[in-house]
Amino acid sequence: MTLRVLLADAASRLRDAGVPDARHDAEALLCHAGGFSRESLFLNNNLPPDGQLAERYASYVGRRMRGEPLQYITGEAWFYGRRFAVGPGVLIPRPETETLAAAALSIADGGACRSALDLCTGSGALAVTLAAERPGLSVTATDISAEALAYARRNAEAHGAQARITFLEGDLFAALGSRPGAAFDLIASNPPYVRSGDLASLQREIREHEPAIALDGGAGGLAFYERIAGQAARYLNPRGALLLEIGADQGEGVRGILESRGFKGIQILHDLSEKPRVARAFL
Ligand code: GLN
Repeated sequence: MTLRVLLADAASRLRDAGVPDARHDAEALLCHAGGFSRESLFLNNNLPPDGQLAERYASYVGRRMRGEPLQYITGEAWFYGRRFAVGPGVLIPRPETETLAAAALSIADGGACRSALDLCTGSGALAVTLAAERPGLSVTATDISAEALAYARRNAEAHGAQARITFLEGDLFAALGSRPGAAFDLIASNPPYVRSGDLASLQREIREHEPAIALDGGAGGLAFYERIAGQAARYLNPRGALLLEIGADQGEGVRGILESRGFKGIQILHDLSEKPRVARAFL
């Protein structure tokens, strides 16, 4: 038995279990089980697995076959070129959220932008990216979930950004409590936006493993946009910017909400697959 045979066997079992990207996941899990980089795995794939590797690998492959997300098994996800620790209880950062990060970074480049608030920070992907990429920015990050915030804090430390991010637990702006002078140049959020009725039809990795609280946007999917847009003006500095990740079919709905709350310069930005993904508006 060599690593190569072990890998091929796992890939075919994952494929039979209906796992998309079976070969990719089989490789990633073998690297994780053996502490290999991709390169060292391929340089050594004619060697037999040593010690407990085969058993550990079989257990990871079994979990993936039962629908557990790859990132929960390996404990990591990549976002904007950085590694984030993730696990059950926190939403895995999505590639489409890099569109929100890019839009936030470009607003942070405007000379007048000194402070940013990230609502529903989850793993901290957005807050940590902002703090790490723009050292002059002071970042506040909130989440209603203590479990998610624990990951976010850990990720901030891993990227040396903990000193410039204030983490607060609570429901949207309520997390700020009565902090004096809580006003920001930028408020950004990737809130839950899946329609409650659509949660049951998400892929099983999401439906059975990721926290519904991070996904459920109420009956119409727009509940958090209503709440954020309704309160954001009190927490934004003059000419401050609001950036919201949105579902691909929510552009018009979110534009209407922002208009009714008096926001100006509303634009819907698209992600790399040309789907509406971020609403940008100014006070
Ligand atoms: N894009 C996410 C998904 O597909 C939804 C994220 C969210 O609700 N903020 O699961």
